[in-house]
Formats: sequence, structure tokens, C-alpha cells
Amino acid sequence: MYVPSKKEIVQVRRAAAGQEAKILRETKKLVNIDSPTGYREGLSKAAEALMANCLRRGLQAELLLQTVQGDHVRATLPGGKEGRILLLGHMDTVFPVGTAKARPFTLDGDLARGPGVEDMKTGLVLGLAAAELFAHLYPANERKTLVYLYNTDEEIRSPSSRATIEEEARRSQACIVLESGQAEPGSGVVLTSRKGSAKYTVEALGKPAHSGANHKDGRSAIEEIAWKVLAIQALTNYEKGTTANVGVIRGGIGFNVVPEHASIEVDFRMTTVDEQHRIVRTMERLARETRVQGVKVTMTGGITRPPMPRTEANAALFEQAKAIAKAMGGPLAETTSGGGSDGNLAAAVGCPVLDGMGVIGRHAHTPEEQMDLASVTERLTLLVLMLRALSLA
Ligand SMILES: [Zn+2]
Repeated sequence: MYVPSKKEIVQVRRAAAGQEAKILRETKKLVNIDSPTGYREGLSKAAEALMANCLRRGLQAELLLQTVQGDHVRATLPGGKEGRILLLGHMDTVFPVGTAKARPFTLDGDLARGPGVEDMKTGLVLGLAAAELFAHLYPANERKTLVYLYNTDEEIRSPSSRATIEEEARRSQACIVLESGQAEPGSGVVLTSRKGSAKYTVEALGKPAHSGANHKDGRSAIEEIAWKVLAIQALTNYEKGTTANVGVIRGGIGFNVVPEHASIEVDFRMTTVDEQHRIVRTMERLARETRVQGVKVTMTGGITRPPMPRTEANAALFEQAKAIAKAMGGPLAETTSGGGSDGNLAAAVGCPVLDGMGVIGRHAHTPEEQMDLASVTERLTLLVLMLRALSLA
């Protein structure tokens, strides 16, 4: 366990504080670029701004060109020591084009506001600032290589960046996710686990009939789907952290017609890989087995994000971060989330992950989204010292 000296903390914090104005300038620029997932024009501008930040801050950077999603940014700060640390972030937001104009980046007392300020544009900027300070404060032969992947499709579960994330995670000793730690002002949290998710659409095709004259000839798609709804909901196991939610149901055309069509949309969340397997097995069986003779069932979907369980390796990363935070004079708590991040992908290939290492803020995905200005210097200091700890490990 690495515990920095008071002198080292003062030195890093002073350097971090000196970055604050620049970080806010760079963040303002990024927040004021609309970059919803799939909007290539805005995402290109965001990527361009980040590439410029990388070069100014002494990182090597390249665009990973995409055809459907926006191009991803991959940046590196080579170190003289064997070993790599992966840092993840995403440029895409959930806000439609026009949001940045309607409510641009603003400073509001102790807070910054604007679309993506907390999820997670400040985190992107903070991560690159950490690389600059890390290179400035420590000699190359004491630094491991930092690899940054900033993608453009995290909000839709990273279809075009997943393979690259997995590949980099396999080669890295640890992964730091620069998503924000959602907490009350003045407190700090990081995440050591996140739930995984799965999404399915199940459709039943029966045979229509007049419900009065020819009821017997009909094959009810709704009846088949109803059986499935009950079987799916029964997969919920709160103790194990598994939830099943049939969130949408459709079917039938009138009260006097045996329904030909019915369908459902299902969301699962799970905490462990065992539960992930149980869900997949059950859904495959439900697709195969029908209760109403003559009804055909088709199913699409599957696991959208694997779970990120609280492994010992993740917990050890938290203990290290906590030791640093304690030496810095602040508390750091460990938390979990029902929502996923790209940390889930890194965790699934066996890389230890510490998530929520960006700034502190709250109300992501809403107009109230906000980031604590005081967290910029504190989190940057923590991040640099964590890179130091991982380089010594
Ligand atoms: Zn995010």
C-alpha cells in the first residue's frame, strides 16, 4: 500500500490547483459542443478538441476511425516502467442537438452546469490533465504507460468500441474509469462494482380467429406471452441483486379476436456472472418451449453489459485510493451502481477496475446535471497519486 508523504501531497495539490482554470476552460469548450451518441458532426468536434488537449498536454493521440458511430480517441503517455494503466471515458451524451445552445456551460456558485458536465466531459479533461502532471512530477523510469480510450458510444453500450476496450483491458494491470463519483458535495465516492444488464424482445405469432364463432381455431399469442411474462418476472432475486422487468407489452387488435400477435420488451440487471448465465439459459429455454400449441416464438437480444462484480482486486484498488484520500485529509467511500459503464467491459476480461474516479457531481442525464468545482483539484490530486501508486505496485 502506497501512502504519499505530506510533502508529496502538497506538491501534487499545488500543481493540480494550478490546472483548475485551464481544466474549466477546456471543459466549457467540450460541454458547449452537442455530442449525443450517433451525431457524428458534434462527436468529431469533441474528438478534435480532445486531440488538441492531448497534444498540448504531451500525450500521443490518434483517432480510431468509425463508420457508424463517431471516431474514438486513443491517447498514450509512454512510461519507462513495464506495465500499463488504462483510463476510460466517453464523449457522447444523452442530450439532443440544441441542448448546448439552450443551456450552455455555466458557473453557478460552487457548481458548474451544462449538458455532460458531470457525465462526463469534465472527467475527460481531468484525465488528460492528470497525465500532464504525472509526467511533470515523476521521472519517466518511475512511470508506467498510460493508455486513454475516449469513445463515442458508451451511452448505447459501446457497440463500436467494445472490442478495443477489451483488448486494452487485457493488456493493462488496472483500469480507472473517469466517470463521476456521484455523491453529496464535500464527500467522495468511487465504485468497485456495477450491475450488468440484458435486454430482450420476445414475439409470439399465433393464429387469429373470431372469438365467438371460431374460438377453437385460434391460437392466442397473448396467452403464450402471458406465461412468459410470469416466468420472466419470477427470475427476480433481490438477495442476489437480480431484477427482471417486462417493461413493455403489446398484442391483440380487439376484444373479439383471438390475438395473432403479442410481444414484450424485457430488461434484466444482475450482479454476478452466475446470474447472467441463469438469465441467458432461462431465456433460451423460454424461446424454445411454448405453452400454447401452434404459437411460434421468436426472441432477439441478450447480454448488453456483463456485470462488474466486486472482486478482491477491485476492492484492493479502492483500499489504495482510500489510503491516499485519507493522507490527503478527506474521506473516500465505496459504492455500487445499478447502471453500467465501460468499466463493466474491462472487468469482464479480468482487469481490476476502479470506477467513478472523475469529478464529483450529480443528476446525470437530467437538466439539473451539476459538477462540484471544489472536486476538480481534489480529484485531480487523487488521480495523479493513484497513478503514482499503480506505477509503484
Ligand atoms: Zn457516463
